[in-house]
Amino acid sequence: MLEGKTAIVTGSTSGIGLAIATSLAEAGANVMLNGLGDADIIEKTRAELESQTSAKVGFHGANMLKPEEIEDLVHDTQARFGSADILVNNAGIQHVSPVEDFPVAKWDAIIAINLTAPFHAMRAAVPAMKERGWGRIINTGSAHALVASPFKAAYVSAKHGIAGLTKTVALEVAAHGVTVNTICPGYVLTPLVESQIPDTAKARGITEDEVKRDVLLAAQPTKEFVTVEQVGSFAAFLCSDAAASITGAVLPIDGGWTSQ
Ligand code: NAD
Repeated sequence: MLEGKTAIVTGSTSGIGLAIATSLAEAGANVMLNGLGDADIIEKTRAELESQTSAKVGFHGANMLKPEEIEDLVHDTQARFGSADILVNNAGIQHVSPVEDFPVAKWDAIIAINLTAPFHAMRAAVPAMKERGWGRIINTGSAHALVASPFKAAYVSAKHGIAGLTKTVALEVAAHGVTVNTICPGYVLTPLVESQIPDTAKARGITEDEVKRDVLLAAQPTKEFVTVEQVGSFAAFLCSDAAASITGAVLPIDGGWTSQ
């Protein structure tokens, strides 16, 4: 389905990004992985994905806090693979705290990684997509792009922002064969969610089990975590020709959370 295409997936050394990268590689796209982490583990992940699929898989360690490294990620992918046809802006971080105690540095980092980095990546990738007349940009939003939860001021702001950025860029590139969408997962059990459970327990004065049952899954009518594989398959569908008319959309995959 995606043979001959190349995908950049930011934040793909773990969790949802790795699942999206896997789905795109299984669909035939070459993939440029990106993210932070131990170099040996990342190389093992890269080599495994390459051996399990027919895709060529590279890795670029751009830090999403650094605009020049984000630009280099896009340009290096174009140089190494010939094009960057699919851009998945997925890297993200979270911090849970009441607004009056919210650390300013955490606010700045969350806005930079979750919202500003996708702007820089799109800025760098869009010209060649327009020139080639084909492109797919997928931003990993969140149910928090559509609704809020307490104690997540920066994250909810960044995710609502990415929904607006998605719609704006989608309008700009619509006539050039390029689609731009935001996918909005509900709770997926990844390191990002696991790590916020203790802070949520502290902020709400409840146990960690109560956080899972009464806070996380309470929001999801299915009472099931969304799986990384479901998000990966959804992203691959948005890259298909069948999805060519889906653009500027903010699309929940959240077990019914945001329909309430
Ligand atoms: P994760 O912590 O498993 O993965 C985050 C990825 O981002 C990792 O690869 C990490 O290395 C990378 N990353 C973090 N900071 C970076 C930086 N400065 N530069 C480059 N890479 C960086 O988290 P996840 O749950 O897989 O989250 C992925 C995306 O999905 C995020 O945008 C998150 O907001 C979103 N999301 C997650 C959930 C969930 O329930 N897990 C729900 C909705 C949306």
